Amino acid sequence: MTVKIIDGKKIASQFFDKIKAEVSVMKNKPGIAIVKVGNDPASEIYINNKLKKAAELGFYVERFNLDEKSTLGEILKVVDKLNQNNKIHGFIVQLPLPTHIDEKLIMGGILPQKDVDGFTPLSMGNLAIGNNLMIPATAKGCLELIKSTGQKISGKNAVIVGRSNIVGKPLALLLLQENATVTICHSKTRNLVKYTQNADILVAAVGKSKLITADMVKKGSIVIDVGINKVGSKIIGDVDFENVKDVAGYITPVPGGVGPMTIAMLLENTLKASKLPRSHY
Ligand code: NDP
Repeated sequence: MTVKIIDGKKIASQFFDKIKAEVSVMKNKPGIAIVKVGNDPASEIYINNKLKKAAELGFYVERFNLDEKSTLGEILKVVDKLNQNNKIHGFIVQLPLPTHIDEKLIMGGILPQKDVDGFTPLSMGNLAIGNNLMIPATAKGCLELIKSTGQKISGKNAVIVGRSNIVGKPLALLLLQENATVTICHSKTRNLVKYTQNADILVAAVGKSKLITADMVKKGSIVIDVGINKVGSKIIGDVDFENVKDVAGYITPVPGGVGPMTIAMLLENTLKASKLPRSHY
């Protein structure tokens, strides 16, 4: 069996086309805002990519840059203004935040119907009980990539390496909804290979380059690489792509796999938010 490369760029572009067509006939365009706190250079690239694509698809776009030393109160003030801004249907506070800021308190301040990142306690709780209103974009993107293979998910062993609130946990809930048997591994997991070798669907969301090697992968499996690691001037994933591709049935490249899907799903969430009745929740 020759490996099939899952082309995230192409799949994302199909979502972009659909969103663009819908936005083009809307009188009130969906509005998205991104709040950046501090000077993280990677965040700068992610924010530019998201807002550039949003503008390209016809969204109304705003951006807020707050100083690295901003207080919790100052950030929450901006959050509250965006909660009340009728032109903005969804917004995100780009993570990571400076270490003196408690991320959970910021997330708790975002109106659930504008929570297009899906990170607020209500959105996460909704996902846990199967009410998928705002699903975290990267997790949703991974599920779409898995579905794009046309392979059945129900009954399969899905192993997710990484248990963050933004990727691992929400993806585990989504795959559980699809009736996969889900295992979540993390830094304290003993004998990781024992789990990964048994995975029909393997997702790596860790942030360690080439953590997943060919001997850890089941033949013919679906391998989704969420990782973004800067090695020299190159961006590589958590999966040793060159060798794993000889074992896996399907695999995402980095770049060009999960990344573009994250943007597509964020904008899909924002479009959805723009259509919610204000009385929702
Ligand atoms: P976090 O740092 O929040 O979580 C990493 C997870 O990996 C933790 O659960 C950690 O375990 C686990 N882990 C660390 N080392 C090991 C190990 N040796 N074996 C098994 N598990 C391990 O990362 P994120 O979830 O935010 O991001 C993960 C990666 O995905 C990063 O590279 C990030 O840049 C990328 N990313 C890519 C996106 C995209 O659009 N393509 C979007 C979001 C993230 P523990 O909980 O025990 O600490």
